[in-house]
Amino acid sequence: MQQNINTYDFAGKKVIVRVDFNVPLNEKFEITDDTRIRAAVPTLKKVLEKGGALIIMSHLGRPKGPADKFSLKHILGRVEELLGVAVKFCPDCQKADEAAAELKMGEVLVLENLRFYAEEEGKPRGLAEDATDEEKKAAKAAVKESQKDFVKKLASYADCYINDAFGTAHRAHASTALIAKYFPNDKMFGYLMEGEIKAIDQVLGNPQKPVTAIIGGAKVSSKIGIIEHLFDVCDNMIIGGGMVYTFIKAQGGQIGESLCEDDQMPLALDILKKAEEKGVKIYLSKEVVIANDFAPDAESKICLNSEIPAGWQGMDAAPSTLKIWEEVLLNSKTILWNGPVGVFEFPAFAKGTNRIAEILAEATQKNGAFTLVGGGDSVAAVTQMGFAKKVSYVSTGGGAMLEALEGKVLPGIAAVRE
Ligand code: AMP
Repeated sequence: MQQNINTYDFAGKKVIVRVDFNVPLNEKFEITDDTRIRAAVPTLKKVLEKGGALIIMSHLGRPKGPADKFSLKHILGRVEELLGVAVKFCPDCQKADEAAAELKMGEVLVLENLRFYAEEEGKPRGLAEDATDEEKKAAKAAVKESQKDFVKKLASYADCYINDAFGTAHRAHASTALIAKYFPNDKMFGYLMEGEIKAIDQVLGNPQKPVTAIIGGAKVSSKIGIIEHLFDVCDNMIIGGGMVYTFIKAQGGQIGESLCEDDQMPLALDILKKAEEKGVKIYLSKEVVIANDFAPDAESKICLNSEIPAGWQGMDAAPSTLKIWEEVLLNSKTILWNGPVGVFEFPAFAKGTNRIAEILAEATQKNGAFTLVGGGDSVAAVTQMGFAKKVSYVSTGGGAMLEALEGKVLPGIAAVRE
């Protein structure tokens, strides 16, 4: 049975917490952005305040085995600062029996990077490039077998399990999903996970209407799952960014050198048809800012999305388009934003994306709309522009949020709920 972090009695318990401390490090192994560590602090502090001891586990990067550059030792100082207590470190997550046994209440032990072991992900490593299908199958079976002991060992350190790693909730890994079954009555979500789940539910579960989704980014192919799933809850869908040109070309428009996935054009037309059937109003960027080169200092002008001359490409939403979108957004009670509506990495073409962030802040602050920014670059955009605190929720999990919005069941969530 799933427990609740607010009511669970942590006193005298050793609590193993899966966090996502996969933070970016520079060449001196200094943390360049500690957002992910800070995001786990409320959960970690709660356990300590309520009289428990913490065993923290995480991955860092994508090591193919033990490697100094991916060691979690690099981040211990920051964890200590944020928790305000000394932190112990076990340099091998499978050899922490003693350290865990000696841990006293109020103390903190961090385990070395889980992904130093192939068993964490359950995927074989070091297979020869010319390995046969048989060999691949055997290697996979072997790692799945040894994964059982790996999970059991991690579970043996603690009395209770918390999953607070939303960023890896879409992976059925040892520490994110498999471990939960060892704690049938002592498993729960941390505050970060709870926040993400609640935010997703406020959009997909029982949202306040009207609901508008803004879907931007580069490719239709990577967003198709979300678009189709959102049709079930949305009243309006704003489609912007590079992906819009696949729709325009499919409808017979001239898109010049704009980004386009020719093979997705039939699908684009199908999406428009489905939207009509489901009564979802689609807003494609009508007037766009075009440029004569994909460059930050390219010459630019405004034109209709279907009349882009040869040698020019669509780079951003034009002010007239933003005006139309603004009206839709300010009339919405629930807004989901995924993906920038222009090439926001170039300041000259970031105006549309910036404006969306401003409008979302206004919808949240003045209209009381619930606004969720989720998935990859739109999160970067909203944070970069200082709007993260002015919207209702900014998701911390790129891939996990995308899969949740596609309606998939995330293994990390299911394992705790089961
Ligand atoms: P995604 O990861 O699918 O959300 O895509 C984000 C990327 O889409 C960003 O790097 C943007 O620069 C890019 N993008 C947005 N609009 C355009 C556009 N009109 N042309 C090319 N790339 C775009």
